[in-house]
Amino acid sequence: MDVKIYEYDVVIVGAGLAGLAAARETTAAGKKTAVITKLHPLRSHSGAAQGGINAAIGKDDSVDLHAFDTIKGSDYLADQDCVELMCNKAPETIRWAEHMGAVFSRDEKGDIAIRPFGGQSKPRACYAKDRTGLTLLQTIYEQAHREGVEVFDEWYVADLIYKDGEVSGVAAFSLRDGQMALFGAKATMFATGGYGRAFKINSNAHANTGDALSIVARHGLPLEDMEFVQFHPSGLGGSGILISEAARGEGGRLFNSKGERFMERYAPNALELASRDVVSRAIMQEIREGRGVGPNKDAVYIDLTHLDPQIILAKLPELRELAITFLGQDMLKEPIMIASTAHYSMGGIPVDINCHVKKNQNEIVSGFYAAGECSCVSVHGANRLGANSVLEALFFGRHAGENIIKDIATLSPKPLTQNDAKRMLEEYTWVKTNNGDEHVPTLRSELQESMTENAGVFRTEESLLKQKNILQNLLKRYKKIRISDKSSVYNTELQEAIELGHMLEYSLFIVEGALARKESRGAHYREDFPTRDDENFLKHTYAYMDESGNITQEYADVVLGKFEVKERKY
Ligand SMILES: Cc1cc2nc3c(=O)[nH]c(=O)nc-3n(C[C@H](O)[C@H](O)[C@H](O)COP(=O)(O)OP(=O)(O)OC[C@H]3O[C@@H](n4cnc5c(N)ncnc54)[C@H](O)[C@@H]3O)c2cc1C
Repeated sequence: MDVKIYEYDVVIVGAGLAGLAAARETTAAGKKTAVITKLHPLRSHSGAAQGGINAAIGKDDSVDLHAFDTIKGSDYLADQDCVELMCNKAPETIRWAEHMGAVFSRDEKGDIAIRPFGGQSKPRACYAKDRTGLTLLQTIYEQAHREGVEVFDEWYVADLIYKDGEVSGVAAFSLRDGQMALFGAKATMFATGGYGRAFKINSNAHANTGDALSIVARHGLPLEDMEFVQFHPSGLGGSGILISEAARGEGGRLFNSKGERFMERYAPNALELASRDVVSRAIMQEIREGRGVGPNKDAVYIDLTHLDPQIILAKLPELRELAITFLGQDMLKEPIMIASTAHYSMGGIPVDINCHVKKNQNEIVSGFYAAGECSCVSVHGANRLGANSVLEALFFGRHAGENIIKDIATLSPKPLTQNDAKRMLEEYTWVKTNNGDEHVPTLRSELQESMTENAGVFRTEESLLKQKNILQNLLKRYKKIRISDKSSVYNTELQEAIELGHMLEYSLFIVEGALARKESRGAHYREDFPTRDDENFLKHTYAYMDESGNITQEYADVVLGKFEVKERKY
């Protein structure tokens, strides 16, 4: 039977902040736009963002200071032109969101309130209580709707249509009933979010399985800086569910089992508000040296009991609820248990400053755009500062939309044919009918446990080689999977099997990147190479996968600028 072919001006994959911000712009400009998303838009992970969105709007703050903090936080790997653009546009982005209808928390004077975050020299995170992402997502979703965007929700994008150097759309199937379709577009954009699910302890939604990265890589296109995975200092003990940095921003203090405020040893000036990589390593070091708390001694305490209870009730109500629900610990009365959790992915699909996806270091792919966490523009370099990612998604999402509007008259990709659905059909049928003896949940647990163990906060050549071996083995076993649900209606077993294939592939990129990078920078910490090596590694990694799954890597220059590369101290 023929697969249905839709035609749009713009097709956007992902309905988080990046995808919806772009869609709202292109729809408002009269471009026929479809957003395809495997979740309902309001369940996108952007809705889980708690703490805030940065903009230099405070009295003694400046765009330059915001840019400096971001570049320093990135351990100088961020591209300075992109950082300057984003920081420059941050105040306007906040005003835009406000004009769209987002209600931010206010200070006593009635101005938008700002709170301190780690690695920032001034308070600059604007917030809506501790539900910032949800407020923004609901607002932008409503506004995109109002402009007339068409949303295909519960549709899973399984392939990119990439021929003769240009992208002409995507192939997708409906999770509801297995119906398949091709979506042709003059401009195609990926905004599929993060991919922290490769780790056992993580703060990410179940949907964050990095589908787009592996889809792009399977077409021989590069991925950038995949070795840089951010481990957030405060995941709830045991599960990794996020306790936002706002908890430290509002004054939370960290203690080990001896009652020591250990950050005094690791970051004597910034203490708990040093950048995330620094605090995460400090926590894990305390645990490794036997000063952890809890039944397994694998957590530390964050204490907020010295704060006025009104601060917690007014500004951190959701965090309190989470700790009560999942740990039975009430932060009003007692310290709660936390440990670091895989949280954010700095690497991704390389794009230029105008969100065009790159074919290699020098060329772009015609008709193809990306923004948000799945992309690497790179504003976060080796380590992202808190509250810069919602800003990135919102600003670069909009910016992608604006660039699509500018470019679209020049784009005329070849029309789609039935043949373009072939790869999706083959994969779908293979997963459904393959008759092996391996089970997806077992392979996934082995992946997640081993990634946390061997490619987590601390890495060595030995642990990474071990992990590479494990991954190669898991990839072989993946070829022998079998699923028992053969239906087409909400077949989550089938979906999870396809997602696991993606997770295994992008994990290999993480490990290969980490193995080759023989230095420590930002979130990437090699115990066998504990210092930063600017001479050899002040470079972005570009990695490509060949047809047999082998990865080759090259290095690309970082865009430097007015901020001099220095040692990073907090
Ligand atoms: C718990 C938590 C708290 C956070 N708090 C903050 C914060 O306070 N401040 C901050 O700056 N950052 C925060 N972050 C990070 C930030 O929220 C994210 O980086 C950002 O929201 C990502 O937005 P996005 O639009 O790129 O992707 P997402 O919002 O993750 O959206 C991804 C979209 O892609 C779709 N999709 C994915 N794969 C497919 C596929 N194969 N087919 C179809 N659709 C697909 C999904 O359905 C979804 O709609 C937080 C992250 C987490 C996990």
